[in-house]
Amino acid sequence: MLYLLDASAILNNPRFSFDERHSYACTLEILEELKSFETRTLAENALKRKLLRVYRPRHKYWKNAEKIVSQKGFTRMSKADISVLALAMQFKEEGKEFVVLTDDYSIQNFLTMLGIAFSPIIQGKIKQTIAFIKYCPACLREFHKSCAPRECPDCGIELKTKRVVEKSGKRVS
Ligand SMILES: [Zn+2]
Repeated sequence: MLYLLDASAILNNPRFSFDERHSYACTLEILEELKSFETRTLAENALKRKLLRVYRPRHKYWKNAEKIVSQKGFTRMSKADISVLALAMQFKEEGKEFVVLTDDYSIQNFLTMLGIAFSPIIQGKIKQTIAFIKYCPACLREFHKSCAPRECPDCGIELKTKRVVEKSGKRVS
């Protein structure tokens, strides 16, 4: 899985570690928030091992993220927070499969609004992922988000989005 990191994912979790089975992305602004020796070393090692890659969200997505943040009244967002949201919007539009790692409630609310999957981190471990799927409100057939049509092929009704909770890849609600 590709994980997009928010600073809180590392800063709030002294036991956070990069897992070689996955890949990680962050922005320059997030990297700059990792100021302690421990967190810097952790990130630098991951960069060297090519587990972590730094992206610059394109201008269009910065503008979009800033617009939604001010429209919806997410007032306490830092530049680093907005950079994560901009990159998440970019990844989504590029059709990437990814999950945002964040313990920040404002970011989680924003991602919920956009239907972007995220995981909080508890004691260094990912316990669950909040994902979003498309379903038909008539026949309840479900579609994978990345390949969902606009309408149900059986009923012709516009699909809706719903929030699901997954634990280690299995759905629990
Ligand atoms: Zn249907």
